[in-house]
Amino acid sequence: MRIVDIRETAIPLKSKLANSSFDFSEMTTSVVAVITDVIRNGRPVCGFAFNSTGRYACGAQMRARFIPRILAAAPDTLLDARGDNLDPEKILAVMLKREKAGAHSERSIAIGTIEVALWDAVAKIADKPLHAVLAERFNGGRIADGVFCYVGGGWYWPGQTIKDLQDEMRRHLDAGYRMVKMKVGGLPLEEDLRRLEAVLDVVGSGDRLAVDANAKFERDEALRYAKALAPFGLRWFEEPCDPLDYALFAELASVYAPPLATGENLYATQDVENLVRFGGWRAGTDIIQIDPPQAYGIVQYARTLAMLERHGWPRSALFPHGGNQMSLAIAAGFGLGGAESYPGVFGDFGGFADDARLTNGRLTLSDRPGIGFEGQTALYRIMRELAGL
Ligand code: MG
Repeated sequence: MRIVDIRETAIPLKSKLANSSFDFSEMTTSVVAVITDVIRNGRPVCGFAFNSTGRYACGAQMRARFIPRILAAAPDTLLDARGDNLDPEKILAVMLKREKAGAHSERSIAIGTIEVALWDAVAKIADKPLHAVLAERFNGGRIADGVFCYVGGGWYWPGQTIKDLQDEMRRHLDAGYRMVKMKVGGLPLEEDLRRLEAVLDVVGSGDRLAVDANAKFERDEALRYAKALAPFGLRWFEEPCDPLDYALFAELASVYAPPLATGENLYATQDVENLVRFGGWRAGTDIIQIDPPQAYGIVQYARTLAMLERHGWPRSALFPHGGNQMSLAIAAGFGLGGAESYPGVFGDFGGFADDARLTNGRLTLSDRPGIGFEGQTALYRIMRELAGL
């Protein structure tokens, strides 16, 4: 068994959305195909992934370093102990050869995207859904039948009215979601509060609504928002400030009692450990949102979870960022708190399997082998073309 080829391509997202800090007009994503020599139903088994949401395509690093390192390794050294499947942990180590410590995001997104595509291939070779493979390896074999999903919505877009925002949230509730998130920080506080109160009228209570400031605020504004938001008892207040400003995180956690959330802009286990050691992040209250394909992939995610468990963190505090089938399978497989969903945005890269169903805020899982991209017609068309299937 061997990897025959690894291909990547950059695809534009063509999105008109904006958060408080930037718009998505230039956003691209890297799609990866890992092609193996294992044949099923007359075709080679291929693993697929893309580099999730909010970070640009990173094919240059893949082409220059990570793909050549894997293809140059002796195929037998990339297999598990039984020799009947790929071993992502060994392949991760190969990708990290001759890499200096630190500077994680320069490589963690490229490596993580390839690594998640490897897991898609591993699960397909095992003929099981990825969430089941992960549950067996990392969650005592507890295979989930669904995942709690909330909508990452409430974006800013040109000409939007408060009624438009309420209509959007009503659509999410009508679709079966029980929790939504909206952007803050893109307008003055008073206007953001008007938007927030209008959304609360629709969703009913603060514990069904989170807000996301996308790392917009300096200290004074972060504290001003925290003070104004605290009485609403929101599910969480996400990315109030720079993702590496641990001192300000700690200060906010000391004055803001409801949950805070961050993690989608942390790329290394050490950065997450710094958050819980020095950022005042409270086990049992706050939320951590690492995006696995952007943070070295699933093997490293398991290491981060083990670190968090040593610090007393429950898995229910983890909600992987991304709103895609990769995060969904990971949330299900590791038994996390839930996953994000971006219905109707980010084009072919948002959303789940075409036949996924939402019941009482929980999304069903498919029994397709692998991550399940084959059930997502528009996205799978791009992947299949890349692999030449
Ligand atoms: Mg966010």
